[in-house]
Amino acid sequence: MALLVQKFGGTSVGDPERIREVADHVVRCRKRGDEVVLVVSAMGKETDELLRLAGDVSANRPGREMDMLITAGERKAIALVSMALHDRGVPSESYTGSQAGFVTDTNHGNAKIVDVRADRIRTALDAGRVPVVAGAQGVSTDNDVTFLGRGGSDTTAVALARALDADACELYTDVTGVFTTDPRIVPTARRMHRITFDEMLEMTAAGCPKPAMRSVEYAHRHHVPLHVRSAFTWEPGTWVIEEGPDMEAALIRAVVHDLSEAKVTVSGVPDRPGVAGGLFRQLADADVNIDMIVQNVSEGGVTDISFTVPHTQLDQALAVCEEQAGTIGAQKVITDHHIAKVSVVGAGMKSNPGVAATMFEVLAANGINIEMISTSAIRISCVIAEDDADRAVQVLHDAYELDQTTF
Ligand code: ADP
Ligand code: ASP
Ligand code: MG
Repeated sequence: MALLVQKFGGTSVGDPERIREVADHVVRCRKRGDEVVLVVSAMGKETDELLRLAGDVSANRPGREMDMLITAGERKAIALVSMALHDRGVPSESYTGSQAGFVTDTNHGNAKIVDVRADRIRTALDAGRVPVVAGAQGVSTDNDVTFLGRGGSDTTAVALARALDADACELYTDVTGVFTTDPRIVPTARRMHRITFDEMLEMTAAGCPKPAMRSVEYAHRHHVPLHVRSAFTWEPGTWVIEEGPDMEAALIRAVVHDLSEAKVTVSGVPDRPGVAGGLFRQLADADVNIDMIVQNVSEGGVTDISFTVPHTQLDQALAVCEEQAGTIGAQKVITDHHIAKVSVVGAGMKSNPGVAATMFEVLAANGINIEMISTSAIRISCVIAEDDADRAVQVLHDAYELDQTTF
């Protein structure tokens, strides 16, 4: 008998039929003797629709009201899932984030969990009920409803698994696990049976949407076993694990792409100590999240500094750069919205030279120009033109023979 926290994403509870299938799955798990706690996302694309609605009504969209609005999506879903369980004779109760004991900070739109007081969930379990908890929400230390951010339901599930000391946190989604690349782009992508936390973190940081990065960090820090799997075929999926003896045998495990960033170049920057420090301090103070940075060799005492930022933070970044350009005497600020970041990830590259060379050669052989490069111990990322992204993913997946992977 195991205690399982099972999280269902938007597509997995997207319509009444799906909700009934999820309830049937819970019945099967209980027959097997498992105890289950469910964490549910808003149905289908409901979160996007609520965001669009807010945009249609309001220009300034106050954070407190936005969180009240967005969390309504999950609230609707938990009640429906709980009703479907009742129909199958399974005693169940739905809980908002607040009722489930999720206490967060006051940062609306992207609140951080500060405590999970799961007594009520524990009591429900002990009484033989199936708790159905709303994902991605909590109550702030100021007693307001908060939203944990996009993808926050994965974090709710992991945090609850930890608080309940569950045997595993199962993230049910619309694919059968974590793949060697996005299966929507490369149909021959393979599901991995297991992946290390380090690799999974690099993949999510490089743009892989599943599981949400914060949930992987949380699971890693608190040793929560994670299992990413299908809510459609119900077959075993991908385990995210601490270390595997054979993991370093594979050179590259995955190709990841990210279209969420834009590139900013501050050109004609005087090449003297303190200039980069000043610019990036101002960006940090404005809460702008910088990813890749490149500074060119200076010519005639001036240089160019380029960096990438999420599209959602481009306006703040530009405001800071324009202001700083005046102060430091830079010539101009240029933006490029149409970039993509393509990354290869694998623990095996630590001990194998030539991974970067292969990546650059493959891109070159396909006429794809590299604009920026960054690396970590187990990842190499290149910024390229957005139009080349799908092709780059495909040719790199082929070059590293990821369709043959057996891990
Ligand atoms: P959910 O809504 O269930 O929380 P998401 O929609 O956020 O899940 O993420 C699942 C999607 O992520 C899949 O439909 C898949 O197309 C996409 N995806 C992109 N890259 C990968 C990858 N390497 N492995 C698995 N899925 C991926
Ligand atoms: N429904 C929210 C979103 O789409 C939270 C989640 O599903 O994780 O971001
Ligand atoms: Mg989805």
